[in-house]
Amino acid sequence: MRIAEIYSSLQGEGFLAGTPSTFVRTSGCNLRCHWCDTPFASWEPIGADRSIESIFDEVESLRLQHVVITGGEPLIFPEVVPLCSRLRRSGFHVTVETAGTVLPSTNNWPSAGDHALADLMSISPKLSSSAPPADTPARWQQRHAAARRRDEILHALMAEGPYQLKFVIDSPADLTEALCWLNDLGIDSGRVHRERVLFMPQGKSVEELDRTTAWLAGECLRTGIQLAHRHHIAWFGHTRGT
Ligand code: SF4
Repeated sequence: MRIAEIYSSLQGEGFLAGTPSTFVRTSGCNLRCHWCDTPFASWEPIGADRSIESIFDEVESLRLQHVVITGGEPLIFPEVVPLCSRLRRSGFHVTVETAGTVLPSTNNWPSAGDHALADLMSISPKLSSSAPPADTPARWQQRHAAARRRDEILHALMAEGPYQLKFVIDSPADLTEALCWLNDLGIDSGRVHRERVLFMPQGKSVEELDRTTAWLAGECLRTGIQLAHRHHIAWFGHTRGT
């Protein structure tokens, strides 16, 4: 599988924010979000193909119990299944970050319990405002629109085990769309657990995050959805390898 980078840092988002972790960033994505903060793993993917054993050896050498498999979109790589299995069998806590638009390519899916892909499935569905401009080459606006929302896949991933569902919110229109989407997914009937949903402000600087958080906090209180910070921007800035 193609790997852009492997590094250690603190998790900046979600339930495990602050946890020292090794990040394995796969390179390649089936979407093209216009605000993508890792374009080197989507728009212009870098990196070389690596074997599972070489990835495992590098993760092991960094000596941290938590591992985050991120991207790009890790689930487009069939090898993510044996990699996660190898890591979990060796005692690592594995989080998989995905946009929730594809399922792992394996005959063993869905899995469960000790055989689940990850200890935490971190799903970040992409709202319509993530679309790239109409003049983007290779018909990426249409391809993005066709691929970005797959509710049946979100349900399959949430059924896999512990999960967090993270929506990046930039505007009141984003908020309205996320709440409608959650309604469609069944947040009121319990198919989606409200306490596992997070709203995060969009932004690549502390100032941008603060501007959105100023109005989003009140909306989180009103709707009963957890407000999640993006600590890594404040801790390290918008830089690679963090
Ligand atoms: S899904 Fe993630 S990695 Fe892919 S383009 Fe969107 S933000 Fe970037």
